[in-house]
Amino acid sequence: METRSPGGNVATVNGITYNIRHILSNSRSGYAKVVEGDIIISIPAYLNELESEKWLASLKSRILKKIEKNGPYFGRKRPLEFNDGETVTILGSIFRITVKETERKSSSGRLDGETVEISIPAALPEKIKRKHVTYISRMVITRAIMPCLAMHIDEINKKHFNSRIDRISLKDTSSRWGSCSAKNSINLDFKLLFAPAYVLDSVIVHELAHTKNRGHSKMFWKAVEEAMPNHREASRWLDRYGWGLGITKGMEQGQHMVQQENAQLP
Ligand SMILES: [Zn+2]
Repeated sequence: METRSPGGNVATVNGITYNIRHILSNSRSGYAKVVEGDIIISIPAYLNELESEKWLASLKSRILKKIEKNGPYFGRKRPLEFNDGETVTILGSIFRITVKETERKSSSGRLDGETVEISIPAALPEKIKRKHVTYISRMVITRAIMPCLAMHIDEINKKHFNSRIDRISLKDTSSRWGSCSAKNSINLDFKLLFAPAYVLDSVIVHELAHTKNRGHSKMFWKAVEEAMPNHREASRWLDRYGWGLGITKGMEQGQHMVQQENAQLP
């Protein structure tokens, strides 16, 4: 259940203004986080008015301090981007993006060794061309690395959870880093493939843990903790550097570090 807070509920930190949204949940605990540039504060629905005010004020002051400490990119993401001429290393494989403009009417892509060969209609507007290059690169690379990723997820699953996994998909998401459906379909943000291995693993563990516990109960966090003792460090890493993931051209400060730390799976 979600209620939009009355107008004017905003906060400005590090020069950025955030809308604040309140959520009432069936959970007995509360949380505050940044989702797509908004601050979401969730509190238990059973609280009375006075308690609600207290919870909201305390969670709000905690999240504002966290944002202030982590800088303006805290909890934010931007769309994945691939460009002509780029070389990326994903799960230990190298991919070189090459783009050819053709007279044809549709875009296409294929993998030839390490080269992702993309053809796009020369007549398309520049903005659409860039979108096609990113989308097709992601599709071609996903097809190439999925067996390796699925095997890796399977290993973690067998070791800690032993759940039946329906399917695994990689998307370019703007909000969550991962999700797990009621049917145990695991969805991960493609951009995680650019993060250090322990960060990727931590999101995998989080989603696999949801196959046993749907919500974020104490039992859920205990299972996460057992499988991934440094999961908090991983989530702090994402808060800080998640913004820099998935873009290799025109890197901003901080992103070089992301690249350096970009580890490979064992
Ligand atoms: Zn979760």
